[in-house]
Amino acid sequence: MLEKLISFENKDTILVSYSMRGEELVVNEALKVRALPEGSYDYLLEFLRLYRDAVQIIVDRIWGIDEKLSKKKLHRLFYSDLMRLGFRAHHAKEIYINAKNLIESARGNSGRKPVLRKLSAKIDKYDYKLDLDNMTLTLKLHNNYEVKLRLVTPRERVEKFRGWSNYELVVKYDGKRFWVSIYFKRIVKSLNPRTVIAIDLNFDNVTLTVFTLDDKLIRLKRFKTPHRKILTHKIWIERIQKRYPKSWRFIKGVREAIERHGKRIKNISWDYAHKTGNTIAKLAFRHHSVIILENLEKLKENNKKDKEFNKKLGLWFYRRIQFCIEYEAMERDLEVVKVNPRGTSSKCPRCGGKLVEDGHRVLGCKRCGFVGDRDVTATINIYKKYISKHSRCGVFGVALKAPKPDENPSGMQGNKNEAMTTES
Ligand SMILES: [Zn+2]
Repeated sequence: MLEKLISFENKDTILVSYSMRGEELVVNEALKVRALPEGSYDYLLEFLRLYRDAVQIIVDRIWGIDEKLSKKKLHRLFYSDLMRLGFRAHHAKEIYINAKNLIESARGNSGRKPVLRKLSAKIDKYDYKLDLDNMTLTLKLHNNYEVKLRLVTPRERVEKFRGWSNYELVVKYDGKRFWVSIYFKRIVKSLNPRTVIAIDLNFDNVTLTVFTLDDKLIRLKRFKTPHRKILTHKIWIERIQKRYPKSWRFIKGVREAIERHGKRIKNISWDYAHKTGNTIAKLAFRHHSVIILENLEKLKENNKKDKEFNKKLGLWFYRRIQFCIEYEAMERDLEVVKVNPRGTSSKCPRCGGKLVEDGHRVLGCKRCGFVGDRDVTATINIYKKYISKHSRCGVFGVALKAPKPDENPSGMQGNKNEAMTTES
């Protein structure tokens, strides 16, 4: 059973998704590249036209049928006809499944019968041969024709997919050029962690702490967020929209000004998310860490009442940062775990008492006297949440020392100065 966890389009418009297969995490990624046929285009074009027309014929024939058609039935109805047209067995399968999907989504959307114009075909792994060493792709076409295509892209882009498995591709013709999207997947093999990285995201910065499995804080890092810069652009957009409340969409200059600010926001946030994700994953790789993040969905639930919440904290931006952290972590086979953020910034990590503000960005506990930097305290709580959940299951086989009541909270020992410095 595949359960889709995240699906996302990153900067290079590569479609990425993660799914669980049993206990295993699977990364799916599509590589879209230009493809240049070696020799004549004719057979490939002919194949794409034939494929499109075959899908259309099936759409026409089953459009009026009300019952849901199973693959088995479609096979019985159309297989031999498609073979007679010169298709291979897996072409036939892709064609009637494609027709079925088109009809189902058309019924769900417009209710109008689909009319196909674009030349695009999905091809099963049995009908192509991908050679990453030579950057070529051989497609098996109708009537036993074959075409060899050269992938036009820098080698580095392809290099990362070495060792992945690929299972299908889509070939398209846009009127001038051929494009292929090759679907790769890989099972993420999590290494046993030796340390824990806890990450707190807040408006001003991303705070990261590295803990050993026996509660020692060994590293602290802070990255300033560009939140204020983003906010400035947002305020500009709102100001313009306020000045032209009804017409801003229709006046070209006004709309363009808004788009400019929107673009800046997009660039600033993606650049930051990519850089941060990369730096954190690199650090995690060096320390053999499991990365602990706050579950943003839970964050939303816990704060349901606050209408301004989403706007104020820029949840979308956190999501983007988290996505890049997760993505870069999985590239390195590192595990990422999400914990419920409830109480991480209000509970005393030493005694569980309520924390109150005790100066600028400093929190204190009246009950036990704990004092700590707000963001670092949050990461200690995030770390503890993870440890309390996972050490019980005996993941590490390490007995964790329970902190004595008169002791500094584990992570803060001897690190007070370090905990108060800011790195950016
Ligand atoms: Zn306390």
